Amino acid sequence: MKYALVTGASRGIGRAVAVKLASQGIPVIINYQSNDHAAQETLAEILAAGGRAEVMRFDVANEKAVVAALDSWEDAHPDDYIAYLVNNAGIRRDNLMFMMPDNDWHDVIDTSLNGFFYVTRRLLPKMMQRRHGGRIVNMASLSGLKGLPGQTNYSAAKGALIGATKALAQETASRGVTVNAVAPGFIESDMTRNLPIDELRKQVPAGRFGRPEEVAALVAFLCSDDAAYITGQAISINGGLYS
Ligand code: NAP
Repeated sequence: MKYALVTGASRGIGRAVAVKLASQGIPVIINYQSNDHAAQETLAEILAAGGRAEVMRFDVANEKAVVAALDSWEDAHPDDYIAYLVNNAGIRRDNLMFMMPDNDWHDVIDTSLNGFFYVTRRLLPKMMQRRHGGRIVNMASLSGLKGLPGQTNYSAAKGALIGATKALAQETASRGVTVNAVAPGFIESDMTRNLPIDELRKQVPAGRFGRPEEVAALVAFLCSDDAAYITGQAISINGGLYS
């Protein structure tokens, strides 16, 4: 059985991705860091719609925790493997660089970039051995393409994630494993809840923030058989904000 692992799937974009993949008949592992209640809500939504899912709590930035959780999942699932990996977990700690504390720099990079590295490296060998259409989708950002003031940490993490996506895609293409990044603009979620939404949406040609479900539809397409020849790309989904 081919499973999907969606990191940061308890809330926001990750939850929408988990729900979407499950609606297509893929059993989903819902990863999250600490919000048990939100993870259970994602699980309940999938089960209520007739899908299959389970929760898996670990901090993507903690390599030992990543390996322990995935080792124990594999022990419990000898006939299954994770064929779809969506590296979505991410945080924001905005500040002008001259005032940015060390922790805010490191925490953002540890989550988005090092988290991608730890989880993906652990799952790659099986994905490549199976030669069965493995799919990796990395949640980048407009901030990683354009650079946004107040987000040097976040832009650095997401820009590096895009570079790693392009490099890894070339390492895995011959094994049928595609690696792509998705670069959302402003999407409605807890991460953007405290932003000045009315001001910011005026900058968006579409005149609104995107919905998590719109990002999930793109991720699901990149995970599908139809997307087998798309790899090494960073695909924007931003209402026309950046081109
Ligand atoms: P969100 O609503 O704040 O949700 C973040 C999710 O990531 C939660 O499920 C959270 O788990 C999880 N998470 C955070 N740190 C983690 C860690 N160390 N280990 C495991 N899970 C962790 O965020 P979102 O808006 O959906 O964003 C999802 C992704 O899209 C992020 O990578 C973000 O950078 C990117 N993105 C978002 C936007 C936007 O406008 N919203 C735009 C561009 C890119 P808990 O619930 O346990 O805390």
